[in-house]
Amino acid sequence: MSAQQPYSFFHSVERSFDKATKFTKWDSGILEQIKACNSVYQMRFPVKRDNGDIEVIEAYRVQHSQHKSPCKGGIRFSDEVNQDEVMALASLMTYKCAIVNVPFGGAKGGIKINPRKYSEYELEKITRRYTAELVKKNFIGPGIDVPAPDYGTGEREMAWIVDTYASLKPGEIDAAGCVTGKPITQGGVRGRTEATGLGVFFGIREVCNMEEVMKKLGLPLGVKDKTIVVQGLGNVGYHCAKFFREAGAKVVALAEYEGAIYCADGLNEEDVVKHRKATGSILNYPGATNLAKNTDALELACDILIPAALENVINGDNAPNVKAKIVGEAANGPCTPEADEVFAQKGILCVPDMYLNAGGVTVSYFEWLKNLSHVRYGRMEKRFTENLNSHILGQIEELSGKRVSDKEREFIMHGPDEQDLVHSGLEETMISATREIMSVWHSNPEIPDMRTAAYVSAINKVATSYAELGIFP
Ligand code: GLU
Repeated sequence: MSAQQPYSFFHSVERSFDKATKFTKWDSGILEQIKACNSVYQMRFPVKRDNGDIEVIEAYRVQHSQHKSPCKGGIRFSDEVNQDEVMALASLMTYKCAIVNVPFGGAKGGIKINPRKYSEYELEKITRRYTAELVKKNFIGPGIDVPAPDYGTGEREMAWIVDTYASLKPGEIDAAGCVTGKPITQGGVRGRTEATGLGVFFGIREVCNMEEVMKKLGLPLGVKDKTIVVQGLGNVGYHCAKFFREAGAKVVALAEYEGAIYCADGLNEEDVVKHRKATGSILNYPGATNLAKNTDALELACDILIPAALENVINGDNAPNVKAKIVGEAANGPCTPEADEVFAQKGILCVPDMYLNAGGVTVSYFEWLKNLSHVRYGRMEKRFTENLNSHILGQIEELSGKRVSDKEREFIMHGPDEQDLVHSGLEETMISATREIMSVWHSNPEIPDMRTAAYVSAINKVATSYAELGIFP
């Protein structure tokens, strides 16, 4: 990338897409249609600040593809939001959903604000007004376009969105399905908060269980004892660190925007978050060494590096310094196409964002289904399964004359509740997607990297669905 040309995230996505098209058999017209963003809505609206000032807010919603309805994708609140970024993120949503077989088109929204600089009341006004603008233009609804959390947003914002939508659409029976990532009390699903981080963990665990792949990287099988660096301690990064630590891996470094900390014996993300809350920074965590810049963490020696914050953090400039064997893209677009070239030369395996972080949208899909069915997962079968298990166990004990331990009894008897079903649906989704992409990659020795294989898989699915529609007006 030359100094004159500013970085374009959308262009990076297009380049990765183009790199994959030669491994597919589709007409250029269909490929162009898949690549294009169908609808781009740019808006401006005023908000009255707490001090009485009027500020004009810049915001976007981009629907990249309607090959399946509704469109789906988060809303981010960040200073860095711009049309190019939202278009890139909306495109990634289409490919992400296709790869994990979630029947949605891709979309994304963004509001150009730093949420830290606004009061809760101001944020509520901005979120509600943004929702009202989407309603006016028919850009939101359970069958149209369904937002979700992203960088800088969470349950709280989703609760404001559903409440605003429902109040503007009285009597709409499926109104709760207009947004996902809601609090449980507002129609959310158990397991959504940790979904992206848990999906990243399931995806990488599957890669680490592949003998051939690990042999090539010179790593032992499994995640246990692997050293991990996580950049970004938001919802996604926090849960990544938690699930890897619980599986016996060592999280040796954590990075946030104020800096990074390193500890060879491993860090506990929960304690680090407590320390950050108390002191306002992750730095000076007892027993850890401070790293001056958060980006220094990306260059530490480790087995698995997990960028879990924003795009374009590993590029042509710093990719040559990356020492990890595996880069797991928990964020959207953390590595540029230039970084991909470097990784291919150095034999670093980059597990791409567009499937690795699909856990969020997968569980959003489960939430949306719950909202349309108006029934909690597990409600119908939990008791029945427990009664059945109890009966089977009773028969086995009677016939064998032996009794199982109380711990085993509890485990065998347990009927699935909502979180069990959501986690198991997510685990199955991530394992199958990993295997599918690997098999596409290994089926053609010309495919240079896992990202290209993921694009090939996504393009084939989206193009098939266009071809099945059969009509272009
Ligand atoms: N913002 C998340 C993503 O980038 C989740 C999107 C969703 O659940 O719709 O995948």
